[in-house]
Amino acid sequence: MKRILLIATGGTIASRETGDGLAPGISAEGLLELVPGIEGKVRVECAELLSLDSTNMTPEHWLMIAGCIRKNYGNYDGFVITHGTDTLAYTAAALSYLVKGSPKPIVLTGAQKPICFDSTDSKENLRDAFLCAASDMPGVSIVFDHKVILGTRAKKTRSKSFSAFESINYPDLGVIRDGELLRFIRQSCGEEPEFSEALNTHVALLKLIPGTGREILDFLFERNDAVVIESFGVGGLPESGGFYECVGEWLRRGRIAVLTTQVENEGSDLGVYHVGHRLKEELGVLEAYDMTTEAVLAKLMWIMAKTKNAPEVEKLFYTPVAMDMFPR
Ligand code: ASP
Repeated sequence: MKRILLIATGGTIASRETGDGLAPGISAEGLLELVPGIEGKVRVECAELLSLDSTNMTPEHWLMIAGCIRKNYGNYDGFVITHGTDTLAYTAAALSYLVKGSPKPIVLTGAQKPICFDSTDSKENLRDAFLCAASDMPGVSIVFDHKVILGTRAKKTRSKSFSAFESINYPDLGVIRDGELLRFIRQSCGEEPEFSEALNTHVALLKLIPGTGREILDFLFERNDAVVIESFGVGGLPESGGFYECVGEWLRRGRIAVLTTQVENEGSDLGVYHVGHRLKEELGVLEAYDMTTEAVLAKLMWIMAKTKNAPEVEKLFYTPVAMDMFPR
């Protein structure tokens, strides 16, 4: 029988009504007791790692989760991580880099309604997650609403419905139908995972709005090693207001700038318009292409803990990891 480690971190799935809002309070053991039928198919052990609303998650917690997987890697066939849905996509992306190329399944799940509610998606999501963790499904994935989504491609796109997550610019890895996993894509993996133990958290994100001033960008570059700018459409920066000068100055001082888009699907293509072309050709701004913003941020934190040298950062950024971007 497959041995699975359930790593609990909190989230709605483990929440109770407190009188002033839902808050996590149910243990990993408590979750299992409410879904009979999991144990018997697989052998489960529990790690009570955190009990957080995922709004409170930080990169420090991502490292804790990766550390827990590392410590226990040899003793289990797969891992299920229960997690709040709000920042689940960030954690899934971060784990894809921190535990790179895992031959064993690392499955994240959660729920939109607590497990103790009459109407809940918790039980099905948990059952599906254990099914996937006991299957031949290497790498990091999110199992939610009967879909299996690649860890680097997930985005929370609905705040209330059970179908909370979508895979962006990449097909689902599989679906779970009538308790059976139909796997469409198998992630490639190594013989052993490559664990990383550090992240550089001096990475910031600016969402541009019409009228944003360059002083915000200066503020972010002053305090960070890399700034991701979520711009419009296929990507570009306003031509007035000193944005090009600002980005150029900070790049000369060794900072990293990545342009991405606020549009969820199809990604950036900076060369298309005059507002983007120069950024790439003359200034050396990187672009996210088809990556999610969650993956861009996690990847930069991971890369910039290894190097701040711009050509090296560029090379690593454009090297696909866990199919986070199409190779160029
Ligand atoms: N606020 C919750 C969390 O992210 C939402 C959820 O789990 O669905 O922890």
